[in-house]
Amino acid sequence: MTDNDRERERKFKDLLARILKSPLYKEKLSKYNLNGIGLDHIQTLPLTTKEDLRKAGAFGHLAVEMKEIAQYHESTGTTGEPSSSWFTQEDLKTGGRQLKECGVRLTAEDFVLIRYPYAMSLPAFLMQQAAWLSGAGIVPASGRTVITPYPRVLQLMERLRVTVAAGLPREFELLAETARLIGSTPSNNFPALRAICVAGELMSDKRREHIEKLWGVPVFNMYGSTETANIATMCEYGAMHIAEQDFFVEVLHEDGSGPVAQGERGFAAISTLSHQGSPLLRYFNEDIISVEPSLCACGRTGGKLVHYGRSKERIRYGDIVLDGADIQEAVYSLSPVPDSWKTLELENGLHFLLDSHDSGKWSEEVVRSHLSGKLHVPVTVEIVADSRLLDRVELVKNVPSTKPVYVHKFI
Ligand SMILES: [Zn+2]
Repeated sequence: MTDNDRERERKFKDLLARILKSPLYKEKLSKYNLNGIGLDHIQTLPLTTKEDLRKAGAFGHLAVEMKEIAQYHESTGTTGEPSSSWFTQEDLKTGGRQLKECGVRLTAEDFVLIRYPYAMSLPAFLMQQAAWLSGAGIVPASGRTVITPYPRVLQLMERLRVTVAAGLPREFELLAETARLIGSTPSNNFPALRAICVAGELMSDKRREHIEKLWGVPVFNMYGSTETANIATMCEYGAMHIAEQDFFVEVLHEDGSGPVAQGERGFAAISTLSHQGSPLLRYFNEDIISVEPSLCACGRTGGKLVHYGRSKERIRYGDIVLDGADIQEAVYSLSPVPDSWKTLELENGLHFLLDSHDSGKWSEEVVRSHLSGKLHVPVTVEIVADSRLLDRVELVKNVPSTKPVYVHKFI
């Protein structure tokens, strides 16, 4: 056993002791004898499902006293059910430390523009911690707010000589399209920019290559969720390394019954080894991932993670199983890559809606056969020329909401 393994076992024992302070696990684990259970026997312990968390409510997995809590986070998925998590000051620092291990290697010389939403969601705060822990400064340019429309974010990036920008992948596609619409070229107009960090959405390799091409800088991805914080970060060689001192990641069969073969796609079960506020044991988050050991050029060993999408997004046609990442890879290998796209699951195949400012280069037939060739299912294609997929007029509107004025003076 290596020192690292011993440290993880110690953290796991510590987790099993303090997790019982939460109402959810006090009940869930009441019939289990936790004495002497190590990570190699974790499979004898029950899974935690999304339904468990939902039923237990926001306080269900809170495992510390309220006076120790620094921050509460909540995200609503497509189903509208909230997922929540609690953070102590230490948890926020741990989250920042994990992101600091990212291949972007932030330093005190960096000035980081944070485009993640600041309301309720987690990544903005973890990125902020990572920047501060590295001595870097930040520009909080939250997404999803009328204060920082797309053109203003571009102006901030240019005027303040931002070196690293962080946000949802979609934001960097939309910022690039906004730049094009107002006559600038993202790969030329931001000479200080050296990297982009993304999280919060599925990011296949082809999508990452596309965003790197748009901006002319490397893109680093991160994988995590509101409930768990960040689980894996990308190194400079493009591998997603699991933060193994903070997470134990299992890859299970769809019904949760034991692990799939190494490197195969399966369903994630996450145990948080460090998190204090709302620790989780074998959290079955419904994400489809694979994990295999790596001997990466960056020097890291341990688990390398690939995320393929959510189980709810999985589409089956007979024996053909398509995850979000399969569809994304097919779409992002089109030339030109669409500025906006959508696919509809039909009974006998997929219907794609595609929008590009450069759609003159597409032939409907070539696009159709490319997509059906990659996905092995019948495909129909509709090239969209109006604003159904992307409203470019809205994108370039640089109109922030105005501050209310209550007292009007004569002069
Ligand atoms: Zn690596």
